[in-house]
Order: sequence, then structure tokens, then C-alpha cells
Amino acid sequence: MKILKIDHLGIAVNSIDEGKAFWNGILGLEFEGTETVEEQKVTTAFFPISESEVELLESTAPDGPVAKYIEKRGQGIQHIAFRVENIETALAELKEKGVRLIDQEPRKGAGGAKIAFLHPKATGGVLVELCER
Ligand code: ZN
Repeated sequence: MKILKIDHLGIAVNSIDEGKAFWNGILGLEFEGTETVEEQKVTTAFFPISESEVELLESTAPDGPVAKYIEKRGQGIQHIAFRVENIETALAELKEKGVRLIDQEPRKGAGGAKIAFLHPKATGGVLVELCER
């Protein structure tokens, strides 16, 4: 498995508009627009920083994974995403090593990326996303 870089930090927020006021309005990060991923019940907003990005996540439904996360732990960093060269190879290697996965197969993420999550119980409490684009 080859990890190329930190692709983005995923941050759960109650409101992308409020988040944008800070990340774009105050910190001056470029705002790349929003995208809704219906199957994840989430709207995402990307703020590129050189090689990486900040990704804000706002739930589109009270039962969505981001809404549940905020309910349990409040707003804040929800996941770290590593860009990998080949996500299928990475998942196969992790399975072979007995790492608990949330996604056995890659699924579609924002921006046409292929993504998969590792289970936080396997990573010392960090929700890790692999992505290939
Ligand atoms: Zn992400």
C-alpha cells in the first residue's frame, strides 16, 4: 500500500455557512463550493490548502452519520483522509493484515473519488478514510 499524502481533514459542522464564515471569511482559505452525497446524507464543502484540503461535512438528515457523530461527540475533526495510489490494493492489504474495515469495497465520495473507511477500533480511535482520485 502506498500512501501519497494527507488528502483532507473531514470536519463535522452544524452549518457549512457558519463554517465557511470562519475557514473562508476569517482564515481566507479558498472556497471550492459544495457537493451533496445523497447516499451518505451529507453535504460537503472543500477548502483547498496547497496539497491538502479542509472538508466540512454537514448532515442532510437527522439520522445521517455526520448528525449522529455530532450528537455523540460535538462538532470537530471527524476523519483524516489519506490519498492512496490504489485503493483496491490498499484494502486487500489491510484485509490480509486483519484490520477491521467499515467499507469492504470502495464507494463513491465527493469529487468523484473512490473512498473507504477503516474502523476507528482498528486505528486507536481515529476514523481513517482512504481515497483515490
Ligand atoms: Zn472525507
